Amino acid sequence: SLKRKQAVVTGSNSGIGLGIARALAGAGADVVINSFTDSQEDHDLAKEIGAAFGVTARYIRADMSKPDDCRALIEAAGGCDILVNNAGIQHVARIEEFPAEKWDAIIAINMSSAFHTTAAALPGMYAAGWGRVINVASAHGLTASPYKSAYVAAKHGVVGLTKTTALEAAGKGVTCNAICPGYVLTPIVEAQIPDQMKTHDMDRETVIKEVMLARQPSGEFATVEQVGGTAVFLASDAADQITGTTISVDGGWTAL
Ligand code: NAD
Repeated sequence: SLKRKQAVVTGSNSGIGLGIARALAGAGADVVINSFTDSQEDHDLAKEIGAAFGVTARYIRADMSKPDDCRALIEAAGGCDILVNNAGIQHVARIEEFPAEKWDAIIAINMSSAFHTTAAALPGMYAAGWGRVINVASAHGLTASPYKSAYVAAKHGVVGLTKTTALEAAGKGVTCNAICPGYVLTPIVEAQIPDQMKTHDMDRETVIKEVMLARQPSGEFATVEQVGGTAVFLASDAADQITGTTISVDGGWTAL
């Protein structure tokens, strides 16, 4: 059980982050959910998770594109035993047409935020002699696709950061691993469908089947519950000696 452990999950008011927050709460952890917004819905979501699982759940606003906000999130949490770096955005375009500001935003949110939150969280984990850093990378942290230069670069960077964090934390009761999901049907993926339809000149069903799931041998999307379960496993005692590595939840994508 993760009782009396506190988890901070970045970018967790939707999609995979929310699935991970729910799964960790289901395993008994107190949770901090986060995004860059500060709406009633955000706080209601925390209330709902707290009530559903009988844990303390709070929403803390912090913009993961801003280094100071990343560090302030860990401060405001007042304790972080399990850090899940999940916030991420996507943009799909050829390198020649890729807007520089999109490149910068993707590198900041998808990669650099994990550096800042990890730097802020490690001292507390070392003092406690226990901690888990779980980075949500991607199949695109291990392999590439065209038109996703910034995303693929950032996710490969996250996998590198994962290995370095694991080496520095080794022997201190703190592990660091990356989960590499294939396609999960969340808002970030839903939003890519129109662009992919345009780029490939295909209808929605054909894009899903022949572009997105073409790389996923199972022919099925992974689910947020499956990614959440993987995070719970990585936080468990069974994973004490698993560190500096990646776990793919990709229906066989990276075996191809
Ligand atoms: P999503 O769009 O549903 O979730 C992204 C989350 O990040 C949201 O909660 C959003 O509010 C938050 N976020 C975005 N910008 C932020 C910022 N500046 N500050 C704080 N929070 C911010 O997408 P998702 O599919 O759930 O993606 C979550 C993570 O999983 C991302 O890192 C993504 O790259 C990764 N991933 C997704 C898939 C997939 O197929 N959906 C596959 C592999 C990896």
